[in-house]
Amino acid sequence: MDLTVLLGAPGSGKGTQAKRLTESHRVIHLSTGEMLRSAMKSGTKVGHLARAYVDRGELVPDDVMNDAVHEALLPLPSDANVVLDGYPRTLDQAQSIDKKKEFRVDLAISFKVPNDVLIERLTGRRLCGSCAKPYHVKFSPPKQEGICDDCRGTLVHRIDDSENVVNHRLQVFEKQQEELTNYYKNRNRFEEIDGNRSPDLIHQNLSKILEEWFR
Ligand code: AMP
Repeated sequence: MDLTVLLGAPGSGKGTQAKRLTESHRVIHLSTGEMLRSAMKSGTKVGHLARAYVDRGELVPDDVMNDAVHEALLPLPSDANVVLDGYPRTLDQAQSIDKKKEFRVDLAISFKVPNDVLIERLTGRRLCGSCAKPYHVKFSPPKQEGICDDCRGTLVHRIDDSENVVNHRLQVFEKQQEELTNYYKNRNRFEEIDGNRSPDLIHQNLSKILEEWFR
């Protein structure tokens, strides 16, 4: 299994880019944020446990996330190209995945975006409540306000995309990111990209890195 992890603050574009890679490079995209939102929606045990953390912009405990990611990776074919988006978020998570004999993170790619840009992206973000397609009130509004162009679902503003919670999420991210990036830098499995560019340019940059790395 080729395993790439995308690191970067909330709103840095990891999810958008991972989705594009599923179309261009046949990768399997696993987003822990989406896994948790879907568990919360369907009311599973993990969903109940996660809600208090997610809505407040806190990290869900490491042991819960480590088990959830392990379970999600186990059934995948051994020749799969997997992109993890939103995991690992702590040093414990990074160490946990490397401790598992079956999996090894080959490459970590970190997205760099200034904080003022992240805040504008996150607070204006809307998601379709049915198909999870992302929109932005200014940068990519739907044709009809509040309605998804694709499935006609209602657009929602995530509780954790409100301004207070966004500020807290960015603080949580900053606290963890140095030791997390150092972990991969020290193991020579680290690349950084400028995430404050057009999605097309970032996609080109990302594709080049993956093609060179997994040649
Ligand atoms: P995201 O959609 O990646 O921004 O994640 C939304 C929320 O889910 C985060 O603010 C956390 O509360 C939770 N979450 C997602 N991934 C993780 C993780 N790897 N570790 C802990 N909490 C996570």
